Amino acid sequence: EKLREERIDYLTKERGIKAVTVCFTDLEGRLHMLDYDKKFLIKSADNLTFDGSSIRGFSAQQESDLRLNIDWGAFYWLPSDIFGPGKVLVFSEVLERDGTPYHADLRGKLKQITEAMYQKDGTVFHAAPEIEGFLFKGRDAERHYHEVGHFDFISIGGYYHSLPGDVLRTFIDKVAEAQRAMGFQNEKDHPEVAPSQFEINFSYSEAIVAADQIQLYKLLARQVAAQLDCTASFLPKPVTGVNGNGMHMNMSLSKGGKNLFYEKDGQDGLSAMGWEFIDRILNNANDICLTLNSSVNAYRRLDPHYEAPNQIKASANNRGAMVRIPFGNERSARVECRSVAPDANPYLVLYTLLRTGLEGPQPQEDAETKRSRTRFLPDNIFDAIRIFKSSQFVSSILGENVQSKFAELKTSTAERSPKQLGNRVKYSEIVFH
Ligand code: GLU
Ligand code: MG
Ligand code: MG
Repeated sequence: EKLREERIDYLTKERGIKAVTVCFTDLEGRLHMLDYDKKFLIKSADNLTFDGSSIRGFSAQQESDLRLNIDWGAFYWLPSDIFGPGKVLVFSEVLERDGTPYHADLRGKLKQITEAMYQKDGTVFHAAPEIEGFLFKGRDAERHYHEVGHFDFISIGGYYHSLPGDVLRTFIDKVAEAQRAMGFQNEKDHPEVAPSQFEINFSYSEAIVAADQIQLYKLLARQVAAQLDCTASFLPKPVTGVNGNGMHMNMSLSKGGKNLFYEKDGQDGLSAMGWEFIDRILNNANDICLTLNSSVNAYRRLDPHYEAPNQIKASANNRGAMVRIPFGNERSARVECRSVAPDANPYLVLYTLLRTGLEGPQPQEDAETKRSRTRFLPDNIFDAIRIFKSSQFVSSILGENVQSKFAELKTSTAERSPKQLGNRVKYSEIVFH
């Protein structure tokens, strides 16, 4: 409440700001942005409505009017060299007309559950994504893909390679600078294994902040790429024959500043709680796979030949394993879920992983035995949809409404994907991811 007043006061006084971008994310993970004139926003901040019926998967005709509830804590200044002068952006929750949370707004769901957890006993859920992407030649390369039939690399790249005057390097530097300006705590950035591939890492934060940052990061990367007449692509597997793009998700729980996943003498330095979190995720991996890998293209990435993880198991060093336990200490001990694609809805990903890690049905047999036997994630989206749709557990955490809506959206995209495209990417999947 205090924050809200402060921000409104700030906006009122700051003459350089003319409009405020209010954004939210649809069920499939697309970021939507509405620009409100500042004066109008200040007047009507408590009564922002929009037509949800035009958002894919959001709202049926009869419930088309939805409301936006600004989250004043999630307020960002956008760097002017990239977005133009005086731009600010704020995230918002989506509400029904009567003010109750809108069921397909996963940001709201993630916020609600993490806040309840903190209220209950002070537990905080932390997350850090490792988002990989490709930088391709030309603007809108994803949109033009079907005319051209291929993507053009802008750089020979290669793990940690930095060549003088390389556009990929320039791009990475610009994005990293912009991130710093927006309050990200950057850690390291580098060209990745495949040509023209990049990865820019930043520090962990509370889950809701981490998810917002994923959306901002992709927005930023696309914007910077466009300035360089390039396209930043977060498709999981845009080019066959080289590594795909992952969004490894590092997660931990803490209480009063103490990392609950750390145990000096535990297996791989993890506590029993950390292992239980892993076992619950592994045991329900097939059920939730669609939330982590939501596009046809994502299943092309899960090819074990390219460091992509399709084995349902945990390992300290096997990169084909769904869960990796990175070498950590008291502060950094964490669980890394590798089987997440960068075009997934980050709020849905974190919400699902948290609830699964805490509440997912446990293996019947001895966890130790279960861990040693390898199972595999679905290798195509149709299997993933089928398992997701009939999962009791999924409906218990997402609700039947979201479960069936999501399955329906995914089925319709997958069915429209022309068979002859083979390994190619489908237009409707890539727009705005
Ligand atoms: N690109 C790989 C993936 O799709 C990950 C490589 C890495 O471990 O950095 O998951
Ligand atoms: Mg990487
Ligand atoms: Mg990783």
